[in-house]
Amino acid sequence: MDIPITIPFVDLNLQHLPIQNQLQQAIQVVLEQGDFVLGKALSDFEAAFATASGTKYGIGVASGTDAITLGLQACNIHAGDEVILPANTFVATLIGVLRTGAKPILVDCDPHTALIDLEAAAKAITAKTKALIPVHLYGQMVSPKQLLDLADTYKILIFEDAAQAHLAEREGYRAGSVGIAAAFSFYPSKNLGAFGDGGILLTQNQDVAEKMVRLRNYGASRKYFHTEIGTNSRLDTIQAAVLHQKLPYLQNWNRDRLTIAQHYDTELAPLATQGIIPIQNHSAQGHVYHLYVIRICESCPVNRSVIQEELTAMGIQTGIHYPIPCHLQPGFSDLGYQKGDFPHAEMLANQILSLPMYPGLSHSQIQKVTDAIARILKVNSPTESLLFA
Ligand SMILES: *Cc1c(COP(=O)(O)O)cnc(C)c1O
Repeated sequence: MDIPITIPFVDLNLQHLPIQNQLQQAIQVVLEQGDFVLGKALSDFEAAFATASGTKYGIGVASGTDAITLGLQACNIHAGDEVILPANTFVATLIGVLRTGAKPILVDCDPHTALIDLEAAAKAITAKTKALIPVHLYGQMVSPKQLLDLADTYKILIFEDAAQAHLAEREGYRAGSVGIAAAFSFYPSKNLGAFGDGGILLTQNQDVAEKMVRLRNYGASRKYFHTEIGTNSRLDTIQAAVLHQKLPYLQNWNRDRLTIAQHYDTELAPLATQGIIPIQNHSAQGHVYHLYVIRICESCPVNRSVIQEELTAMGIQTGIHYPIPCHLQPGFSDLGYQKGDFPHAEMLANQILSLPMYPGLSHSQIQKVTDAIARILKVNSPTESLLFA
């Protein structure tokens, strides 16, 4: 029997229905102009998103994964180089590195923020290290100051994976403006989402921008003249038109996410003694909460799987981002990593649970989620069942 969903994990209709007419009109303009590939709406959106993020150049591509892969290539990263990245990221970060031919060097994360452990990263630097990829996981930036210090000390590049961090801020920096370049995804459920796949590379560096423009377009420096082995990976004009219509709302949507996270924090605070601990926010108002993630710690009397199953049974959708760290995925076993290599990443994979999070999620819905968790803890706690025995 299907359980009716009372609170979904995401609800994109809440974003799109109020601006449906302007979205349809923007699509209509592209239909009339017929410039479906590399059209005007694309260059307009690229400039707008780069400006909003505090950078100079934006180059739209077919996905966030391509923004990472081609972006690293545009930064001249190739076979023989080492690239450092966290073990607890979405696999696309790792795939991007592997596609360049460079050797990925995974490192552990901070158990409280789930962000890359920069001390571990510094220890992993060798003479071959060309770049470090901070993943601004869940919408929180890795400390820009510490990243720039590392880059300066060790003469390495910072390449941001900002796929979950559109317009996030920390220490006066916007996501995408810290490193040599930054990759964003416009997958529909991201903070800024297209009506399909999409991505963009942002950079301040003219050489990187120019190489990226060639790489996404068969390596062509001009029509039918190819200076390198590129590919076909362009952000569709129609997607750019949709994204450009949505961009002015992004800041408010992000603010709404922050308010929702603050409500969750308040409602969940009494459950801390039972081992329910939210992932820590070290960037104050700058966190854009792509996801709201809690830890169900060892001290919690109830298993994560029980909590998730019972929430599902009540029609409350949750997620796990991500259940298996990169180094334990079977597809990457050739890298030679083993269980135990990154204890914090492995611990978090077993503890984390992402709660419903989307602009428009109401205060009473948040309370329903947190009340449900409190009730599940109460009903399933061993001491409680003894009382009823
Ligand atoms: C979504 C995501 C990607 C990949 O983006 P796609 O557009 O799905 O290819 C890469 N890294 C992180 C951290 C992501 O969340």
